[in-house]
Amino acid sequence: GNISDLPARAARRWPDAVGLIDTTAGSDFTWSNLDSLVNGQARRFAAEGVEPGDRVILRLPTSAGFVIALFALARAGAIAVPLSPTVPERELETVREQSGAKFVVTRNSLGEPEAGEPVEPIGDGEDTALLAYTSGTTGPVRGVMLSHRALLANVEQLGSVQPPPLTEEDRVLIAIPLFHVYGLGPGLLQSVSVGATVVLAERFQAREALEITARHRVTVIGGVPAMYTELAALPEEEVRKGLESVRLLSSGAAPLHPKILAAVGEKTGLGVYEGYGLTEAAPVVTSTLVTGHPKPGSVGRPLPGVEIRLVGPDGVAERVPLDPDDLADAFDDDGGTGLVAVRGPNLFSGYWPDGAHGPAEDGWFRTGDVGYIDTDGDLHLVDRANDLIIVNGFNVYPHEVEKVISEMPGVREAAVVGVIDERSGEAVKAVVVPEPGAAAPSAEEVAAHCARMLAGYKVPKTVEFADSLPHSVTGKLRRVGLRS
Ligand code: ATP
Repeated sequence: GNISDLPARAARRWPDAVGLIDTTAGSDFTWSNLDSLVNGQARRFAAEGVEPGDRVILRLPTSAGFVIALFALARAGAIAVPLSPTVPERELETVREQSGAKFVVTRNSLGEPEAGEPVEPIGDGEDTALLAYTSGTTGPVRGVMLSHRALLANVEQLGSVQPPPLTEEDRVLIAIPLFHVYGLGPGLLQSVSVGATVVLAERFQAREALEITARHRVTVIGGVPAMYTELAALPEEEVRKGLESVRLLSSGAAPLHPKILAAVGEKTGLGVYEGYGLTEAAPVVTSTLVTGHPKPGSVGRPLPGVEIRLVGPDGVAERVPLDPDDLADAFDDDGGTGLVAVRGPNLFSGYWPDGAHGPAEDGWFRTGDVGYIDTDGDLHLVDRANDLIIVNGFNVYPHEVEKVISEMPGVREAAVVGVIDERSGEAVKAVVVPEPGAAAPSAEEVAAHCARMLAGYKVPKTVEFADSLPHSVTGKLRRVGLRS
């Protein structure tokens, strides 16, 4: 298959149903309208010299134009390279050079629906459909090669969860960027595959999202933890009213704090289904949708057709180059923690350009995430292996310390990193963001709270304060810059 078969199929099955609503532009499209715009755009790309296998950067906001260009490139056999419209020039240049992209699409032009012959899609299966640059929370940018097969496999895996998370009756709010694989895969492709109406918002702003949700009677919201943190801060009545039509909330990309899960539950009566994924898995690996119960702190179980297992220190992560010596102590056999490895048809083909460091011959891919499986069989993520801090030979996973500090009243958010220390090798440093308007704890109080809750070597040696912390587009904490 080719990912552009999805809108073609929707156009055949539900020609006159509204398939896409662009709330920023104020426009909507039936499936047949959308599909014919894709044909027109595919012809235009070809006329402008886009050839099969060419990389084309899409530097477009979350919009109907993005959706049409994405499917049109797939139909023309080209490889879409989505980037944020606000990507700095320097990063754009790096990606352009690294990907060898011939074209950069920077403007939304929808063209006119046309009644010409349908364009036969070029390329399928193992051909690369998407070259997704990871946002680089952990290092230099890398292009993840996702084939039509991998993207469609993840759509099918999600769709075979019982009961199906989405149906043609649903209206799905996508306020996560489409230029990120979370918005693109489980958001856009998944919705188009079942004929659910896609409601696009260019950005997430809690009050605006509530208004859009109410206006378009949205039934499903796919989000990231930062959105739920914002929603949880609004008055209960406003949230309840705004989300009246909603039956399902989901979150992924970064850890959802149990405190936020509980707050959203209190205000809406709804649970938030948490999923875990990564670009290299196109992207979803596990979800609490599989068991049908949101579970605080857990990312659920593998989707049908996906396998996971935990591997030890000799299984050094391929995703993140790690020094095996640093990893020797990182795994705790008793606690059963290990690196999460994944196998399934949704995996990527390797990194651009030569497919290096893809899944091993036996099909397994090591993610670089450390986790454990509880007695129910549900996965919990501990942290990323390469964020591990080693103090006097003892392991400190920053996320554990961050969770403890975030529980303190007056604390909005915390980041924990390792800094070089002459005596202990590394020492724990915390950067704390106070809750605006609330009385923030002092550095001593933060350290004292940690000392009560955690083993001595995990207690931050230094505590600094900041107004905000660096985040990726999906709300991931970027710890790298905080180490110095
Ligand atoms: P890079 O890998 O270069 O840092 P990135 O973080 O943007 O870039 P993504 O593919 O977007 O790469 O993110 C995948 C990672 O996000 C996972 O490996 C995991 O660490 C984290 N992640 C995803 N879902 C969750 C979740 N529910 N809870 C905690 N972490 C998550």
